[in-house]
Amino acid sequence: MLINHREEIKSLQPYKPGKPIEDVKREYGLDNVIKLASNENPLGCSEKVKEKIKEGLNNLAIYPDGNATKLKEALSKSLNVSVEEILPSSGSDEMIDLIVKAYVNKGDEIIMADITFPRYIQTAEMMGGIPVIVPLKDYTFDLNGMLEKITDKTKIIWICNPNNPTGTMVKEEELVKFFDKVPENVLIIYDEAYREYATKDDYPKDSIKFIKNYPNILVMRTFSKAYGLAGIRVAYSVGNKEIIENINKVRGPFNVNSLALEAAITALEDQDFIKKSYDLNLEGKNYLYEEFDKMGFFYPPSETNHIFVNVERNGQEVFVELQKRGVIIRPMGGTFIRVSIGTMEENKIFIEKLKEVLGK
Ligand SMILES: *Cc1c(COP(=O)(O)O)cnc(C)c1O
Repeated sequence: MLINHREEIKSLQPYKPGKPIEDVKREYGLDNVIKLASNENPLGCSEKVKEKIKEGLNNLAIYPDGNATKLKEALSKSLNVSVEEILPSSGSDEMIDLIVKAYVNKGDEIIMADITFPRYIQTAEMMGGIPVIVPLKDYTFDLNGMLEKITDKTKIIWICNPNNPTGTMVKEEELVKFFDKVPENVLIIYDEAYREYATKDDYPKDSIKFIKNYPNILVMRTFSKAYGLAGIRVAYSVGNKEIIENINKVRGPFNVNSLALEAAITALEDQDFIKKSYDLNLEGKNYLYEEFDKMGFFYPPSETNHIFVNVERNGQEVFVELQKRGVIIRPMGGTFIRVSIGTMEENKIFIEKLKEVLGK
């Protein structure tokens, strides 16, 4: 090679996203393909957001507001935090990148679960950080196991609640006990990508109070999942001013595009859409639970819009066979697959095809 790249990227693999619907249609000559692979909202997004985006098309020649002032103000009002405690980003994916760029030095230890969002480990390695992996216990975060791994070198602990891909959650009570024991020089990133789907009373519905009580917690939220805006890339994080200031130094000047800024503000206002999405998800989840129960399949209870289920057959094979039949899911290693909860129609097609593949 002519040009030397950074040592840290040598062993990295590019992110493998789910196959797009169009590719699967072409590959297998199918007319109808459903994608239950990326935890997207099957209802799409709020109609009000679509209208707002159409208006925004008149301003494409103008740079977006690099400070995202209007979005920050809207969030500040609805969350009751100051604008200095908020930082919008182009999806949580960008925020994960920005966090490690701002905080991870070579040799820093980054604590995370074994089965969780893959960007945590990839970005740690990208910066020369050392991933410290704590296996899930009963498919749930082992917070005590994580505490035991804290050393002088620990920089970040990643908590995904509820967790992708297992769908499991940690209760507020346990989380607070854990926060109390983490030293203040360790950054806790609390990723709540699926918070809107959580059903249980002991799920921490109001995580914003954490950032008021603990200066080392950053809460990450996204518009990609329940809000149905994965395609336009917008998310935000909330935390201590000092953390926000540091991350703000390493972001691009116009990191959130103008359509995304407007979409996010309008999406926040349409909570009826979130309620509808929650209801549909719950209905679909109960239907899928029932069908999995009939087949005798194990799944940990999900507080998200996806289910991590043991189909007792090689997951990769099941993935390929389902794909041939026009259903895209995610194989998860071993005999587990992850299926996103779709519309009732999609859920029924998935079950029908799954039974076909498994000979049930
Ligand atoms: C989907 C997802 C994200 C990324 O969301 P974007 O805002 O679309 O980048 C972050 N964390 C978890 C756990 C996710 O599942």
